[in-house]
Amino acid sequence: MTVPVDDVPAVAGWLRAATAVTVLTGAGISTDSGIPDFRGPQGVWTRNPAAQRMSDIRAYLADPEVRRLAWRSRQDSPAWAARPNAGHRALVALEHSGRLRALVTQNIDELHQRAGSDPARVLELHGTMFTAVCLGCDDRGPMADVLARVAAGADDPPCLHCGGVLKSATISFGQSLDPAVLTAAGEAAAASDLFLAVGSSLTVHPAAGLVEVAAAAGARVVIVNAEPTRYDRLAAAVLRGPISQVLPALVSDLPPLPA
Ligand code: NAD
Repeated sequence: MTVPVDDVPAVAGWLRAATAVTVLTGAGISTDSGIPDFRGPQGVWTRNPAAQRMSDIRAYLADPEVRRLAWRSRQDSPAWAARPNAGHRALVALEHSGRLRALVTQNIDELHQRAGSDPARVLELHGTMFTAVCLGCDDRGPMADVLARVAAGADDPPCLHCGGVLKSATISFGQSLDPAVLTAAGEAAAASDLFLAVGSSLTVHPAAGLVEVAAAAGARVVIVNAEPTRYDRLAAAVLRGPISQVLPALVSDLPPLPA
């Protein structure tokens, strides 16, 4: 089957007709906010494959040098100063139209919430970088407090309660997703009539598998991504334009859903 590419008017029409839209976002929606993705042409891992070790829980636990690099990288992250872009705001407009079932995100940057998305509808599959967690006693607190200790000279700050290893409250390779969040995401994918996958290479599971869940349940799948993904074959349409232009174009004439 040939999948139509870049037919924005057709997808805008499907969106108008939809009543339950589930959106899955990935790092690509935040690149126009100045946060690089991992696997795109300018991605962090594309440019420096060794950086992947910082996202592996075994390496993180075993190697203090990996943790030191991770703390430096957290400290220097462009995400602290980033602001939501037109792509994030378009998803707020979609929500206000009454059609959004859930906004499932692989991102850890909280830009959806800062753009104005209802936090109750945002399902953070991979956690948030704004919280720090102890891998020993599970104590949680603001990341800003730990980064203040890093700025004061602690290059691998231990947990203040138990001395355990601290990390951002995000999911690394080798860690399990929160089952409640994953279940809610699966239910939202299965209950959607339109499933929009935005800015993700769709290589990380189980997040990427939500596309299959939605398609198997009969949802129309639309993929918005600059590069081909392995799920393009399941899509009713693929949009390759820049996300911060494509999403606003999709919602520009979206009337409220009739009550
Ligand atoms: P990825 O890096 O694997 O893929 C991003 C995709 O987005 C690429 O295919 C790229 O071509 C596309 N893309 C980038 N900018 C685009 C744009 N402006 N318009 C259209 N397409 C664009 O990202 P992923 O699939 O989300 O997986 C990466 C993992 O790393 C996720 O778990 C995510 O949590 C994490 N991550 C998060 C952030 C963040 O929170 N902003 C940033 C980097 C990585």
